[in-house]
Amino acid sequence: MSDNWTEEELRASVDAYVEMHRLEAAGQPFTKKSYYEDLANRFGRTVKSYEYRMQNISYVYSLQGRQWVYGLKPARNVGSNVIQHLERLIAASEGQQLGSNTDFDAKVEKLRKKPPASPPKGKKKPESVQASVTQYVRDPAVVAWVLDQASGHCECCEAPAPFYREDGSPFLEVHHVQRLADGGEDTVNNAVALCPNCHRELHYGAEKRELANKVRAKIARFRGTSAANV
Ligand SMILES: [Zn+2]
Ligand SMILES: [Zn+2]
Repeated sequence: MSDNWTEEELRASVDAYVEMHRLEAAGQPFTKKSYYEDLANRFGRTVKSYEYRMQNISYVYSLQGRQWVYGLKPARNVGSNVIQHLERLIAASEGQQLGSNTDFDAKVEKLRKKPPASPPKGKKKPESVQASVTQYVRDPAVVAWVLDQASGHCECCEAPAPFYREDGSPFLEVHHVQRLADGGEDTVNNAVALCPNCHRELHYGAEKRELANKVRAKIARFRGTSAANV
């Protein structure tokens, strides 16, 4: 980091962002400026520099395919080491279900712009790292109920499950329309059974928001629930 932010200061900034993100997802009011002022009082930088740091954090959210805090337009002038660092702090602050692959994905995208002439060597003995992640405890009854309702068909594209599990049951994945990390409920009103293609598209597709709206509109149990956080 070029401007010598301490670990403590960065962590406090990420914690503030995660809290604003959570409040926004829950539809609760908050004032961004008071978060910056609080950080400015604690660490002695200008309010503006915290606002800018928040926009860097928005950039990491955008790489993860997530919505960022309204009004904090992603600012992408951060190195991949900083992205990785911010990502770790975000994960630590809020706990994430999916693996933390943003930095990896950003590197893949960069390399794809200039494909090498010959195949890369790779590693015969890849290294391993220990990671600790916070996970949400999901209710198996919700998963079972949603799978039962779907009766073997994707609730998005309606196609039959692409294959059967070893126990003979159709393979579908249960997805939360509003992420648990964004304040989504682990209830049947926030969960759908999907084929792997639709599931990936809802996470990574260019039109994932439109698709999520379509799924909500289609499924009877979603009617009457708020669509404000789609
Ligand atoms: Zn599908
Ligand atoms: Zn999912």
